Amino acid sequence: MISEEEFKENLKRLFGRIEKACECENRNPDDISILPVTKNWPIEAVQYSRNAGFNRVGENRVQEAIEKQNNSILLDMNWDLIGHLQSNKVRWIPGNFARVQTVDSIKLIKKLEKILNHENKKLGIFLQVNTGKDPAKAGIFENQCEELVDAVLNSNFLNLEGFMTIAPYAPDEPSIARLAFSRLRNLRDRISENYHIEIPELSMGMSEDLREAIAEGSTMIRVGSALFGTRD
Ligand SMILES: *Cc1c(COP(=O)(O)O)cnc(C)c1O
Repeated sequence: MISEEEFKENLKRLFGRIEKACECENRNPDDISILPVTKNWPIEAVQYSRNAGFNRVGENRVQEAIEKQNNSILLDMNWDLIGHLQSNKVRWIPGNFARVQTVDSIKLIKKLEKILNHENKKLGIFLQVNTGKDPAKAGIFENQCEELVDAVLNSNFLNLEGFMTIAPYAPDEPSIARLAFSRLRNLRDRISENYHIEIPELSMGMSEDLREAIAEGSTMIRVGSALFGTRD
């Protein structure tokens, strides 16, 4: 794992990339939050993030996140689940995660609602949409969206805070990611207008495609390798 000094350098470089992308698009960098993705890295990754002022990190596996939570003396850190949530892990969500970014089925909504009701806790969620129609990716298709929005809005314990997508991996063709991001923004705008609700967050963009995501209105980029390096 990299040193904290290296992490700080990476973070500085990341701020530079965000600023540059924002300049091109006439956006305010303050409108884009960074979610450090600490998956596959030891607790130090969370500690570095916290020392740098972050109060939220992303993890893609329930058990890994909970182990880190148990092995740390970290206070007031919020954990976002950004990986697929299996039904049999739903009971671990309340109390351990502040938000689930990967809600993608009615079944999952019902299971979450039941356990949250039981524990009398609320949970912020994003709907994950496969706007890139990538067979390798999870998420609903755009035409399933209303059904899930209805279910979330009927729930007393789930709060629809945003939409999330993972663009197809195509580093040589940034237009592919950009299209997936623009589709997510359009979907958010349409739902927001039709239902007369505010859906503030667009979680889109990672280390390789954050520029395209910022161009299409991302409010949250999920960044792993650009901050912590890659495992080889
Ligand atoms: C790993 C992961 C990221 C971070 O990806 P990088 O390319 O390392 O920045 C973002 N989102 C999700 C859902 C991930 O699983």
